[in-house]
Amino acid sequence: MILVSCNKISIMLNIALFGPPGAGKGTHSEFLIEEYNLFYISTGDLLRKEIKNQTKLGNQAQNIIASGGLVSDEIIVQIIEKTITENPDANGFLFDGFPRTYIQAYILEGLMIKLNTSLNCLISLDVPEVVSINRLLKRGQTSGRSDDNETVIKNRLKEYQEKTLPVLSFYKDKGICFELQSDKTIPEVREDIVNVIKSELNKRLLNIVLFGYPGSGRGSQGRAIAQKYGLEYVATGPMLGEEIEKRTEIGKEIKALYENGQLVPDEIVVQLIEQKLENSENVKGFIFKGFPRTLVQSYILDGLLKKHGSPLSKIIEIEVPTLELIRRLDERSKTDNCMPYDTSTAKIVQRLQEHEQKTVPVIEKYNELHGVVKIDGVGTFEEVLKKVSFEIENGFKNLK
Ligand code: AMP
Repeated sequence: MILVSCNKISIMLNIALFGPPGAGKGTHSEFLIEEYNLFYISTGDLLRKEIKNQTKLGNQAQNIIASGGLVSDEIIVQIIEKTITENPDANGFLFDGFPRTYIQAYILEGLMIKLNTSLNCLISLDVPEVVSINRLLKRGQTSGRSDDNETVIKNRLKEYQEKTLPVLSFYKDKGICFELQSDKTIPEVREDIVNVIKSELNKRLLNIVLFGYPGSGRGSQGRAIAQKYGLEYVATGPMLGEEIEKRTEIGKEIKALYENGQLVPDEIVVQLIEQKLENSENVKGFIFKGFPRTLVQSYILDGLLKKHGSPLSKIIEIEVPTLELIRRLDERSKTDNCMPYDTSTAKIVQRLQEHEQKTVPVIEKYNELHGVVKIDGVGTFEEVLKKVSFEIENGFKNLK
């Protein structure tokens, strides 16, 4: 089965609740899906549905579940892929009872990559075995679940110890495993879980790419957005100028290239952006303006962000009709803000053409992959800023 690509750039919140049977995964899931607007995936529930509907998968799983064993990874991958495929626009997923084996941890990695997202945290709820057994026996009085009886419970716990518990090391290595004690009251455990999620959300960077033709206002909007949301403004043009001014080694190279009328190669731009990503402390994210300009640069950005472990959150394009662009650039050329590249009509037209030929395909690529939010750039600076801000906040509203 092939997953449809997620047709939006999503700041998803993906959580896995981990723990032995009776740890309270189902109980806390109810609150979390409501609070964070998540799509709930319980492999146990999905399997019980398959059994109820007497499907082929259900028939294969029935006896294993009744004995307290683990259903095969082949069956699990089928039901979980189907559910995720059908809900690509979810705000995020809450996994309950998955992954339960090392293989399933890899399966989850693959599924998240397909959705251009990742698991934010695995929250492990720990309870002593006697507490598990007592809770499940009590649940068995009303749940109607044939596997909530003492013999099967013991087997389920044995399976947990042998096959599921080792999965924790996979997430410890990734640094996203949070172990909580679950033999406390429900509100106490809930508070611990919410604290973990809050701190994870705060760690996340907001990475925005701002596109637009020259004259669309992307520079002034980008700087204003950076200031408003505590983002690092990454504009390659000024970055190159800064290096020349500071007379760094790279600056000297750039100066020589400029003097010979040559373009600055991507190798230099990559180094500068990489430095910026690595040296920026205490920023809430990055806003890229004037980069990526070409398809090659879009792959570079994808690679740099992947290396930095912080995916794109939002791609915005400010749209302004061509005649208005020319009018604005021509007006600017008569002021002190005149850029060396808009001193003549021929130069202005050349820049617009350059954008059309090289950058529009990049926007199209991103639109296909993640969705690009288009904003009408006609209006006052404040009016457009309000629209851009709305889009940025929109991405976060369900998560904060
Ligand atoms: P649960 O509702 O999560 O307690 O699951 C009930 C039963 O379904 C388990 O004891 C297993 O037999 C089966 N099961 C649920 N999720 C998985 C999984 N991820 N991998 C293998 N078996 C599972």
